[in-house]
Amino acid sequence: MQAAIIVSAIAMTAIVALRYLAASGAFAFATSRTRPGLYAGLGPQIRREIGWSLASAAIYGVPAGIVAWGWQEHGWTRIYADWGAYPLWYMPLSLFLYLFLHDTWFYWTHRLLHRPRWFRVAHAVHHASRPPTAWAAMSFHPIEALTGAIVIPALVFFVPIHVAMLGLVLTIMTVMGVTNHMGWEMFPRALVHSRLGNWLITASHHQRHHDEYRCNYGLYFRFWDRLCGTDRGLAKPR
Ligand SMILES: [Zn+2]
Ligand SMILES: [Zn+2]
Repeated sequence: MQAAIIVSAIAMTAIVALRYLAASGAFAFATSRTRPGLYAGLGPQIRREIGWSLASAAIYGVPAGIVAWGWQEHGWTRIYADWGAYPLWYMPLSLFLYLFLHDTWFYWTHRLLHRPRWFRVAHAVHHASRPPTAWAAMSFHPIEALTGAIVIPALVFFVPIHVAMLGLVLTIMTVMGVTNHMGWEMFPRALVHSRLGNWLITASHHQRHHDEYRCNYGLYFRFWDRLCGTDRGLAKPR
């Protein structure tokens, strides 16, 4: 039994690491095609970003692997696979709930990480990417990685979610984590500057966090930033 937990933790670590390498690699390649030279001279920084990200993969993989094992073996968690278990309208609602709750956790822990003591210990690693690249998606100090790694494995014990919606949550998390750091905006201006875009976080918003540090702390939505007066709007397009 214990061997099965360890296998699950190792397998999940490998999955997270490969997912990172595939997603960051794909958007780094897209960057080299659409913005040639944007990462020129950033080789040493990119190697550090990959190193921290692969260490973070283990910190994300272990709790996820343990919970996945418990789900399979003991029916832990409120993850369900039967399409009829909840009404269909609950599918998009559960997706939104997961994103909003993760965003809320991220906003407040991120603000704490910007207090000077915590910043030096646990968050300076992430901001050492100046400017960040597509490889910085998981470039976190282990303490910061731990604060991020526990969110979804904890939520699945409380908020019911279909396994397909959970897959979508993880996909959105991965894609936005990479694209928010890649240094250019991939979404059309018509969306970014729309009413809906005013509430969503994309590269133009998070780039400004990396430029100016003390603003734009959110993950997916601008809700908390707007409510708390920390939203400074978008970075200049590049
Ligand atoms: Zn960042
Ligand atoms: Zn920060």
